[in-house]
Amino acid sequence: MKALQYREIGADPEVVEVPKPEPGPGEVLLKVTAAGVCHSDIAVMSWPADEFPYELPLTLGHEGAGTVESLGDGVTGVEIGESVAVYGPWGCGRCIKCAAGAENYCQRAQELGINPPGLGSPGAIAEYLLVDDARHLVPLGDLDPVQTVSLTDAGLTPYHAVKRSLPKLTPGSSAVVIGTGGLGHVAVQLLRSLTSARVIALDVSEEKLDLARKVGAHETILSDADAADKVKDLTGGLGAQAVFDFVGAEPTVKTAGACAAVDSDVTIVGIGGGTLPVGFGVLPFEVSVQSPYWGTRDELIEVFELARNGAIDVHVERFSLDEAPTAYERLHAGTVNGRAVIVPNG
Ligand code: NAD
Ligand code: ZN
Ligand code: ZN
Repeated sequence: MKALQYREIGADPEVVEVPKPEPGPGEVLLKVTAAGVCHSDIAVMSWPADEFPYELPLTLGHEGAGTVESLGDGVTGVEIGESVAVYGPWGCGRCIKCAAGAENYCQRAQELGINPPGLGSPGAIAEYLLVDDARHLVPLGDLDPVQTVSLTDAGLTPYHAVKRSLPKLTPGSSAVVIGTGGLGHVAVQLLRSLTSARVIALDVSEEKLDLARKVGAHETILSDADAADKVKDLTGGLGAQAVFDFVGAEPTVKTAGACAAVDSDVTIVGIGGGTLPVGFGVLPFEVSVQSPYWGTRDELIEVFELARNGAIDVHVERFSLDEAPTAYERLHAGTVNGRAVIVPNG
């Protein structure tokens, strides 16, 4: 089968021929219907050899959907041909975090060598994808896999972040979204459907801000050194009750801290390496700063319910498997508006 692999540190990913996997006991083989392209992969491919945590070659793609092709011994509860999406942050399934559905915070994944598809295990940008356990599959039903595959990360990750801050997003509050790309443009929609907060979107690209407005942002601001002052102006000098940074670079975490209101949440989702100092007097009183990772299994089911209700809709640009390297180039160049989705069997 064909797969998109990152094969050598610093090299571009390539489409190569690899053996079609066979499901072992407990495993499920999917014929991939759609696979999303996340900016985290660009970060992964920028890591130097001595810090690279996975084995190469690595088949990319941690947002995956497919139809069940075959089942390993002992798998029950899934039907051949069923359309499913994959919960990506695989855990052990048995520790206290996994028992609560928070496999993203599994206590034993590292020790047991369990890695998400595309981030250590062979990923979804291939004709077939092996899933380690049927509990990591969410039925899609009638949902279009190409339209919804990115909800497994670009939906789930902002959903987890926004959900934590719902108590602060009361009527009259404001929420800031920094970086309205793949994750951010879904975050705007989640804020609009789950809260009555005024949503203020920041990006460096006018095209991305256009998309932010289309999907419901009340205000858009070009992200520069004056952006936090503009947020303050729009919020009567108070700042925002929740700030979500989907870039996480030094200038954006600075902006995030500078537009936070007293008793607000600042959530750094982007992995741009920026750090926000916390200490008495450094930020407004009682600001809570967090940097979450992905989301929980139950939250993924909730995200698909929101899609079913029409509350969220990913802005998708399709690519074939042969065009997957181009999708990564475009994402790196900042010219994907919304999410790039690979259709390997299209
Ligand atoms: P993306 O490239 O689709 O979107 C990033 C957006 O940020 C783009 O619209 C870009 O124009 C904008 N941007 C760049 N610099 C900016 C600046 N200085 N100010 C404002 N906007 C700026 O990326 P994505 O796939 O949505 O991922 C967003 C970030 O989230 C990445 O860092 C990714 O690695 C990270 N991520 C984290 C998690 C997690 O669990 N914490 C999960 C998925 C992705
Ligand atoms: Zn991702
Ligand atoms: Zn666990």
